[in-house]
Amino acid sequence: MFDKILIANRGEIALRVIRACREMGIKSVAVHSTADADAMHVRMADESICIGPPSATQSYLSIPAIISACEITGAQAVHPGYGFLSENANFVQILEDHDLTFIGPSSDHIRVMGDKITAKDTMKDLGVPCVPGSPGGVPDLAAAKQIGEDFGYPVIIKATAGGGGKGMKVAESAEDMEKAFMTARAEGKSNFGNDEVYIEKYLTTPRHIEVQVFGDGKGNAVHLAERDCSLQRRHQKVFEEAPGPCISAEERAQIGKICADAVAGINYIGAGTVEFLYEKGEFFFIEMNTRLQVEHPVTESIFGVDLVREQIRVAAGLPMSFTQDDLVINGHSIEVRINAERLPNFAPCPGKITQYHAPGGLGVRMDSALYDGYSIPPYYDSLIAKLIVHGRDRPEAMARLQRALGELIVDGVDTTIPLFHALLEEEDLHTGDFNIHWLEDWLDRTYG
Ligand code: ADP
Repeated sequence: MFDKILIANRGEIALRVIRACREMGIKSVAVHSTADADAMHVRMADESICIGPPSATQSYLSIPAIISACEITGAQAVHPGYGFLSENANFVQILEDHDLTFIGPSSDHIRVMGDKITAKDTMKDLGVPCVPGSPGGVPDLAAAKQIGEDFGYPVIIKATAGGGGKGMKVAESAEDMEKAFMTARAEGKSNFGNDEVYIEKYLTTPRHIEVQVFGDGKGNAVHLAERDCSLQRRHQKVFEEAPGPCISAEERAQIGKICADAVAGINYIGAGTVEFLYEKGEFFFIEMNTRLQVEHPVTESIFGVDLVREQIRVAAGLPMSFTQDDLVINGHSIEVRINAERLPNFAPCPGKITQYHAPGGLGVRMDSALYDGYSIPPYYDSLIAKLIVHGRDRPEAMARLQRALGELIVDGVDTTIPLFHALLEEEDLHTGDFNIHWLEDWLDRTYG
């Protein structure tokens, strides 16, 4: 087992990893930019090291700075959290070259899954059902229009290197195609340095269902059921739950096995998420994320396992601590993402926290790096907290969420907490009757 792990991240996810390290008796190293000198992850780690100025490109995304921090502190392994370098195959390759262990999959797996076209081809070959679409990249507008005709509108044009909802455009009809095609290409180029795009049939009323998988890198893999992340704004998740309220035990076992077999088939190591759109009882693969997800706590809650601990174990060459048969769902869990954003436009709202009080009690987990007097810097993601609740069933989890939100105090900046108070008044949230468009429609109706 490792003696010391460096966490190449900040905020709540850095705390999450530090906590797992501490329970495992492993020393943790926090890295930070000058803007984060007073951040909670720096205070909580065993050691900390400044890796650069506020700009993420010069600090949290700087590979030389992270490698130097490992050399200086003697860390043997790096946990990337999510975002930043977590899905950067080049970074993983450089760590491998420096005899440092990346706590996550191999650079090859990240590369294959990081390109949505090769990911889809690979998954298709492994028996995973995919959204109907172009057989690969679409070279030009004429080819795009032909595909629109063949599949029928609406279609979605996606940058193969895209992520975080960027580089995706819907064409409702042939007239929309030129603009959508050009915009998706331009976004791919400017955000990810790659203008290759492909086209998929645009599903009009799907839910977003994602299967958590875990492999040991030696051909063994399990699934940890699904999460429903259908409530999204601009393709970004807002409210996540496990298990999916509309997925039957039979469907779960079937799609779970397909995913576990697929990742076992490529000797995948560590945590991964196979994302699907689910419509009329059918699953359609859209992409695989080769990292721990923001919403992993809902899965941890229903299975009572620590996914970060498990990531560290398999990265150190140990076997997984559970088998598929050990993984039995207990109750229901929900996570809401609390962002420092001002409604109704969700404009980022950094600033000083004048008062912070976290909710507690049975079945409540608060993953956050906030504290009284903390100043949220303007340079990074606006996620400031994840409130996760667990109940014996969905109604109990919903009631607990409502109760916990009522206890939560974050003063000094605007947050998305009022959004969740308002959403919990909606009948559809309680019945689970929503798809990926529900939230956008509700926001339009509510805020205009
Ligand atoms: P990203 O990598 O940017 O997160 P994804 O491919 O995972 O992109 O898609 C994100 C979201 O976009 C999905 O959860 C869904 O809401 C929407 N989406 C993606 N593909 C389709 C599709 N073929 N039809 C309808 N919606 C889609």
